[in-house]
Amino acid sequence: MTKRYDVVIVGAGPGGTMAAKTAAENGLKTALLERKTNPAEITRGCAMMFAVESGYYFAERMYYNNKNKKMIFPVNGFSVDYDGPTRNYYAWHFYAPDGKTRLAFGDYDEAIIRGDEGRLSFVYDKGKLLEGLLNDAQKSGVDIITGCNVRGVEKKEHGLKVTGNGDTFEGTFVIGADGVNSRVAECMGFNKERRFFGVARGTTRYVTGVKMDQSESVTTAMCFKPGASSPIVFWVIPSPYGEDEYWFQTPVDFEYVTQKSLFSSWFPEVKVVRAVPFVLALWSPVAEPYKDNVLLVGDAAWFSEAEITGSMMCGWRAANAITVALRDNKPDREGVRSYSDWWQKSYPGFDDYRNFLMIMPFCRLFSEKELNYLYSLFTAPLPPNNNPFQVVRMVKEALRPVRTKIENEMPSLAHKLAMLEIDTIDSLVPTIKKQEFFKA
Ligand SMILES: Cc1cc2nc3c(=O)[nH]c(=O)nc-3n(C[C@H](O)[C@H](O)[C@H](O)COP(=O)(O)OP(=O)(O)OC[C@H]3O[C@@H](n4cnc5c(N)ncnc54)[C@H](O)[C@@H]3O)c2cc1C
Repeated sequence: MTKRYDVVIVGAGPGGTMAAKTAAENGLKTALLERKTNPAEITRGCAMMFAVESGYYFAERMYYNNKNKKMIFPVNGFSVDYDGPTRNYYAWHFYAPDGKTRLAFGDYDEAIIRGDEGRLSFVYDKGKLLEGLLNDAQKSGVDIITGCNVRGVEKKEHGLKVTGNGDTFEGTFVIGADGVNSRVAECMGFNKERRFFGVARGTTRYVTGVKMDQSESVTTAMCFKPGASSPIVFWVIPSPYGEDEYWFQTPVDFEYVTQKSLFSSWFPEVKVVRAVPFVLALWSPVAEPYKDNVLLVGDAAWFSEAEITGSMMCGWRAANAITVALRDNKPDREGVRSYSDWWQKSYPGFDDYRNFLMIMPFCRLFSEKELNYLYSLFTAPLPPNNNPFQVVRMVKEALRPVRTKIENEMPSLAHKLAMLEIDTIDSLVPTIKKQEFFKA
């Protein structure tokens, strides 16, 4: 039997659950369709950093209020309850292949003394966050249908038809919140004008037995196997699940990094507690997150990751825009224009996705010698920053006074640094595609 709703939401991640809770609290008849049987179980790798507390991000100045246990989004004007575990981190460190030379964003020793006030940001339990949002959604009357893999979305005369697992759902509006590999975007033709960079795959691991200096930070390290021309890039980030646990991400060569590399002393008794894979389809952002009464939110509309926080912002905005459209009896593009306008301002209008993409060649373009030299130029930490869009720009700006020195001492490095510009990103695509997680 077909059920009719004001809004059918596909995907119960942060974007979809926030949209469902908001729509139902506003009084809309809402369905939330999710292919997993337990939507709060995290089955896709995610570092769960609160992105970001160190400055504006997607035009928001978000933070966590420890006192009332709320994530606050003051520019958009809403908050989200979260009373699960948190764990601060105080700097972002990039390590050169020699295992010791470091480029730091933030002064760890100075920041950690100040505790919450000094933190760069923190990690938290995404599953617990989703649990809270789902409880609220359920209490407000959302029909939550789990185990429903949506295969089709079609425009009908009055609204849309969504099909999954043999069931049919009709909605005046549909919200596509089904993530970076969005079926809704595909079915509705959103991807036609997007640029496709490829599919990345990897495994994230929660590990214990780590002994690192200044461990309560985000660590991005480059490590070369003997004779290799490009590095293994790996990440170590505190885990919210335990004080002695860390999130470790590298697409390949976990054993090499932890047991044989120059970094192996960081992992004296490493044990994998559990592994969580991820698949990442890299599409450029949509031109507009609206088409034929379908609104895309979160990763489905943006490039790579809208982040948990950014996806919740989208969900909240989309549900409110639909509410206004229905109250105004304008169930069309004009009715929900406030969502598209907000999205343009907060996503492409806030920063160019290619600045995010730039992190990939920044970690992989340079040789071992170039990286050791490059990081040695930073004798003091750069300002605290956890915004991946800004990293390469900040590094280039900081190197401006020593440009001539680099040109004289290592011209190959000077040449490669000059290549790191978004307008010439095409020349970097082969380097991006060379990275190990496109092949893993
Ligand atoms: C390696 C890695 C590290 C990351 N680290 C961070 C971090 O530190 N901090 C941060 O904020 N973000 C991080 N992210 C990004 C973050 O995970 C996403 O941006 C965020 O979860 C997006 O939320 P969403 O609601 O848009 O989509 P998702 O969280 O992807 O949710 C989509 C939901 O839709 C469901 N679904 C998919 N297809 C269908 C279908 N056909 N039918 C029904 N249901 C469907 C999925 O099962 C899922 O539940 C990371 C991502 C990766 C890959």
